[in-house]
Amino acid sequence: MKSTNRAILLLLLILGFNSCTVANVKRQMENQVLSYELSMPQPTTHYFEVKMKLDLNQTKEISENYVDFKMAAWTPGSYLIREYAKNVEGFSAKSENGALELQKVSKNTWRVFTKGNQHIEVNYRVYAYELTVRTSHLDDSHGYANGACVFMFVPQLMKTKSILKVIPHETFEKVSVALPEIAKNTFEVEDFDTLVDSPIEIGNQDIIEFETMGVKHTIANYSLQKLNYDKKELVADYKKVVEASASVIGGPHPCKNYLFIVHHLPGIGGGLEHLNSTTCQTSPQAYDSRDRYIGFLGLIAHEYFHLWNVKRLRPVALGPFDYENENYTNMLWVSEGFTSFYQNDILRRAGLIDETKMFSQIAYGIASIENSFGNKVQSVTESSWDAWIKYYRPNENSNNSTVSYYTKGGVLANVLNMIIIGETKGEKSLDDVLRLLYKEKYLASNVGFSDAEFKSACEQIAGKDLSELFENKIYGTQTLDYAQYFNNVDADITIEPSTPNTPWVGITVRNKIVTRVDRGSGAYDFGINVNDEILKVDGKTFYEIEDFTKNKEVGKTIKVEVKRSGVIKEYNIPLRENPTQRVSIRSRKSDDPLAIKKYSKWMHL
Ligand SMILES: [Zn+2]
Repeated sequence: MKSTNRAILLLLLILGFNSCTVANVKRQMENQVLSYELSMPQPTTHYFEVKMKLDLNQTKEISENYVDFKMAAWTPGSYLIREYAKNVEGFSAKSENGALELQKVSKNTWRVFTKGNQHIEVNYRVYAYELTVRTSHLDDSHGYANGACVFMFVPQLMKTKSILKVIPHETFEKVSVALPEIAKNTFEVEDFDTLVDSPIEIGNQDIIEFETMGVKHTIANYSLQKLNYDKKELVADYKKVVEASASVIGGPHPCKNYLFIVHHLPGIGGGLEHLNSTTCQTSPQAYDSRDRYIGFLGLIAHEYFHLWNVKRLRPVALGPFDYENENYTNMLWVSEGFTSFYQNDILRRAGLIDETKMFSQIAYGIASIENSFGNKVQSVTESSWDAWIKYYRPNENSNNSTVSYYTKGGVLANVLNMIIIGETKGEKSLDDVLRLLYKEKYLASNVGFSDAEFKSACEQIAGKDLSELFENKIYGTQTLDYAQYFNNVDADITIEPSTPNTPWVGITVRNKIVTRVDRGSGAYDFGINVNDEILKVDGKTFYEIEDFTKNKEVGKTIKVEVKRSGVIKEYNIPLRENPTQRVSIRSRKSDDPLAIKKYSKWMHL
């Protein structure tokens, strides 16, 4: 056979296959209860257009003479009520017999009266002009659609399969989403949770693909400028990170495909985890220096590790979700804090950072919480529970009244790891706690763990009752016994005043305006307020923060003149000793084989 004939045959085969697939997809769409269409005819206006089609013949779930269409109030992974319905406009509904009556029955619910019609179509627009990992964005450079803020749900159909068709603007060539593609830009969606958990990047993003552990990984890089990386090196480093992440829990990889959507723009940052994908945001300069690049790979490690910790292995409250209300849990210190610990631990396993860098990261976490006044006011479990009203809504008093479940959770992950390594003589680590829960809760029945089950798993692996630690230091605010824990892994920790006998006034000032007053300081106890304008210190015009303490001693009092609501006031402020502590960690490098074994387990030697 000649090559031209072969080519024609091949073409016929492709055409035959395609027409067959198209027919299948068409049939599948016709028998579908629910389908979504996402289009963006005019990206410059920042409006996505959504069409939802509902075939009531195909479901027995809806018996009322109306259907409620609802917009989520928040998106999993970012624990704040964001009221996505605020961006919706132009909601309309029709059937084959014309427009249907509708009523807005709550801030996020549109009720459509079906009047015996079986085929319902609703259309609405969503304003999308906020480029964060938990919102949506559309302009002439790309579209980024986050399920929770774009797609409505019907409460009776949360578990129903649907089809999503994306119609990119004519200037956009690519659609990146971690959903099975059944026809060009048409995707199969398992249920509403999956739709929310599958952010979509639409545009001309740079696509990089690699395969490891039997999973196809895709990186979709969005940037307005050329990025300074070598593709080969980038893939090699991503591979190291994802393989080291997978080694924590071990076993078969739970994903078929995985997608990294990476936005590069000045002034953006952070990441959001999803079931089979993540969205990460970073600066276009992320690849320019080793430090920045390692920081970026830490973000990749963090979000990728979440595909196990929180997306699958999770506290009971975190899936299935209530999309309209707060979902409370004490355990974000495990879901986020442990992930923060592991992001560095994974870089260490991957050989991307050395022991010294690990020590400095661990010391930085401990110093952050020990120097936070809120650490003695709020426990890490309260911090988790109140994320909705505190962590995501910080104010000028947050450092006095709250502790970060990310930072303290990371410190506690390291503490529990050191306890387990010590108690098991270097045989086990925190990995084994996660492996146990992953097997018993997620793999066995895809349910979340309770507070008690989490503590019990730690105790089972450590072979020790951990009630004192949990009651007083995790559910309470007592100081951790650091020296004892570090002793377990043949290391020493030093916590000491960073500037002994140095006077401290206890305020933060920006352009002469007080932005923060520290609990326990002279300023806090003797009258300086946030928003005061500092005019004079001891009769001299105030220029910079050093004016409070320069050539002064601990125990002395200074006169501070401030302007508050247009009125000038004077306060006598005692200078106290600066309470800031510095933390350093040192390995002992003992000769004892057991000490070496424990240290090696801790530092992955
Ligand atoms: Zn996280």
